[in-house]
Amino acid sequence: MGKPRILLATIVPEHVRALLDDACEVVTAPGGARPTAEQLAELLPSVEGVLTTNQMAVPNALIDRCPGLRVIANNGVGYDNVDIPYATSKGVLVCNTPGVLSGAVADLTFSLLLDLARHIPANDRHVRSGNWTRGAGRIGVDVRGKTLGIIGFGRIGHVVAKTAQGFDLRVLYYDPVRDPAAEAAGLATYAERESVFREADFLTVHCFLDETTRHHISTREFGWMKRTAYLINTSRGPVIDEEALCAALQAGEIAGAGLDVMEQEPLDPAGTLCSLENVILLPHVGSATTETRLAMIELAARNLVNAVHGRMPEAPVNPEVLRDPASARNAQR
Ligand code: NAD
Repeated sequence: MGKPRILLATIVPEHVRALLDDACEVVTAPGGARPTAEQLAELLPSVEGVLTTNQMAVPNALIDRCPGLRVIANNGVGYDNVDIPYATSKGVLVCNTPGVLSGAVADLTFSLLLDLARHIPANDRHVRSGNWTRGAGRIGVDVRGKTLGIIGFGRIGHVVAKTAQGFDLRVLYYDPVRDPAAEAAGLATYAERESVFREADFLTVHCFLDETTRHHISTREFGWMKRTAYLINTSRGPVIDEEALCAALQAGEIAGAGLDVMEQEPLDPAGTLCSLENVILLPHVGSATTETRLAMIELAARNLVNAVHGRMPEAPVNPEVLRDPASARNAQR
């Protein structure tokens, strides 16, 4: 039997390419490792698996046109580029890269928190612009002793809570799934959702994006927050209603925001967010360290190779596809 044919739709280091070539027949888009949406639509029906990123949408209509497709291996922990129940109903296994990036994303969350508290970007601009001779930079606020609110207490939320201990922060969390063990260990205290927004001096968002969390932080939630509070989002842009956020920032309803993710990426530099002084903006670099990116792509490639060969991968999102293929395919949405 020939090797399973896969589409390589992201850039990989040489040793990962060698691993893929060994186990699979690898196809790529002409002229580049990252296919356009049109190239994806053309190539996907001819392969059994794809190694891609969560930035590349795989719409249901495309899945319908790919009866031979068995595996979508994302290089990332988010999987909002695929409708999971639909993929499951079509017998398509989706894999991701959980865990290996939690430390890097938690670190970036704290970078934003500290940068907001101490106005690091503004103070940097102050020095470079020569204004230092006319006065010291901006005065910030203490982090120690304050309250950190975590919305979404999953893998990354846990590492953020652990990091917060080193800053003597009181940590409150809200998640529909409570974690009594973490509470008992003193990692964080559960609070009702509204209380987390009301009490936080720093509010950080770590839930996944799906239809239940899209825009679930909006005008009402900003109204609950302290005027002195800072919001940090390193999860997914659409979790926050960006128009409402801009209004809250402009009205001084909250003190500021640090965003690694936005509703539309890349962000329009002519848009409102870029015009606001009390916002720090990053280009979706939560996992962007050399070590983490390597660990991610290696895990994503192992997931793909194992799955296209019928073996359970390390990080399946919908393992029922392999465990119980018939019922997964018959599952109703
Ligand atoms: P996870 O699945 O371990 O945690 C997500 C948590 O959100 C879960 O505990 C879930 O119960 C909770 N949740 C679901 N609905 C919620 C709601 N309505 N309110 C509050 N919490 C809710 O995922 P993770 O590994 O911690 O990653 C979290 C997200 O971070 C990913 O889904 C991804 O979108 C994002 N992410 C971003 C970057 C980046 O580069 N900025 C990198 C990695 C991950």
